[in-house]
Amino acid sequence: MAIATISPTTGEVLATFEPHTAEQIEAHIAAADNAFKQLAETTFAQRAAWMRRAAEILESEADEVATLISTEMGKTFATAKYEALKSATGMRHFAENAERYLAPESPVPADSVGASSLDVRFEPIGVILAVMPWNYPLWQAVRFAAPALMAGNTGLLKHASNVPQSALYLGALFERGGFPAGAFSTLLIEGAAVAPLLDDRRIRAATLTGSVAAGASVAEAAGRNVKKTVLELGGTDVFIVMPSADVDRAAELAVNARVQNSGQSCIAAKRYYVHADVYSRFADRFVAGMAATVAGDPMAEGTSFGPLATERGRKDVEELVADAVAKGATVLTGGTTPEGAGWFYPATVLTDVTPEMRIYREECFGPVACLYSVDSVEEAIERSNDSEFGLSSSVWSNDDEEIALLGRRVDAGGVFVNGLTASFPAVPFGGVKDSGYGRELSAYGIREFVNVKTVWRA
Ligand code: NAP
Repeated sequence: MAIATISPTTGEVLATFEPHTAEQIEAHIAAADNAFKQLAETTFAQRAAWMRRAAEILESEADEVATLISTEMGKTFATAKYEALKSATGMRHFAENAERYLAPESPVPADSVGASSLDVRFEPIGVILAVMPWNYPLWQAVRFAAPALMAGNTGLLKHASNVPQSALYLGALFERGGFPAGAFSTLLIEGAAVAPLLDDRRIRAATLTGSVAAGASVAEAAGRNVKKTVLELGGTDVFIVMPSADVDRAAELAVNARVQNSGQSCIAAKRYYVHADVYSRFADRFVAGMAATVAGDPMAEGTSFGPLATERGRKDVEELVADAVAKGATVLTGGTTPEGAGWFYPATVLTDVTPEMRIYREECFGPVACLYSVDSVEEAIERSNDSEFGLSSSVWSNDDEEIALLGRRVDAGGVFVNGLTASFPAVPFGGVKDSGYGRELSAYGIREFVNVKTVWRA
């Protein structure tokens, strides 16, 4: 994919970038390796001061950054600004908590293992390669960068090729906060150039957020080199509504669960399983809510969501819907690509979706919901788990036993009860099955890329 800013709102090519040459890539790796040696001499307090300064800079530039994100990938200005401010909050969280998250531990009394002292320490490992997607251009990268830098690692960011200006902004931000040159920088390279980087001994691990195919490719290259990876991949999250739930509230929030970020969110609800007793009530409100959304100019007031980020992405959505309709799905609203410039696609609800249809199993990265009626909580759980993915879930019920059952049996990295799935700096985030492995955020996230070192003294 060429490295370029192409407006999803107009289709116009706004800026193009040459991929970095082999010499430039080498200079970035060398600088990151050198910065790692410098970070080793710093304290948590020093790194926290730099991190807070970087957060302040980001907050002070939130309007400009939000405009840049909206321009590059099409989300609304309001949601882009929210993302910039959330990223700054995440940076402050790790500035404040990294030392506590990584405090040495004594797992058992030293004398129980024949020692006079015993420490488990969490030490940084070196340069980490971060391959990131365009859908949350700032937040996805920051939720790796903030814990990594606070732990004392350094980062090389390979961002998605359609958000190069957001990538370059991030590549400069931490140095502007005070971190040594090279501690976090952007490599302008295409996806195909990533795997060979894992052969470089100075790159010690990799994290990738993106599609299953990209994740598998990076994990394969890392595996050949005995390097650790964390993968945050796709999802077909469920939204389960049981009769005891506040059905009207569920139906209202169900709209945003699907159309947030123009439907291009890994944790967007994609499959809706609604108990037959409340199906009609839910479906009427949900479909009306979806039909009332406005897909439009991301910079304009009154827009619910912007265009899809890429032309290819919209084609993928169109193909999934066309395949479902050809095989008998019913379109309750949306389903037709509008005329005119920009990669817009309307909020769409499909029903009568069957296993023969691609959308039954595949992730649809656009504002298309599949609505199913189920007869019991058991059926909802069984159908939820009949998926290659297991990222998160949103379940709606006011019955404690049912909630306990859903919490235990839904096979995913998260179960959010009577609310939408969200990420918080202090709460672990990640999936199971094809949704990936490892965790980001919280103490679990910051400990992914550390050497858990045992120091035993006789
Ligand atoms: P994608 O094509 O996999 O791209 C993601 C990143 O991987 C980009 O930087 C891309 O670079 C790079 N890439 C692509 N092919 C690669 C390869 N063979 N080797 C190494 N790097 C490669 O993903 P997308 O379709 O743009 O993004 C949407 C996907 O991300 C969805 O599946 C979504 O669910 C997932 N996602 C997951 C999470 C999570 O936390 N679990 C969060 C957000 C998104 P180029 O742009 O240069 O191709």
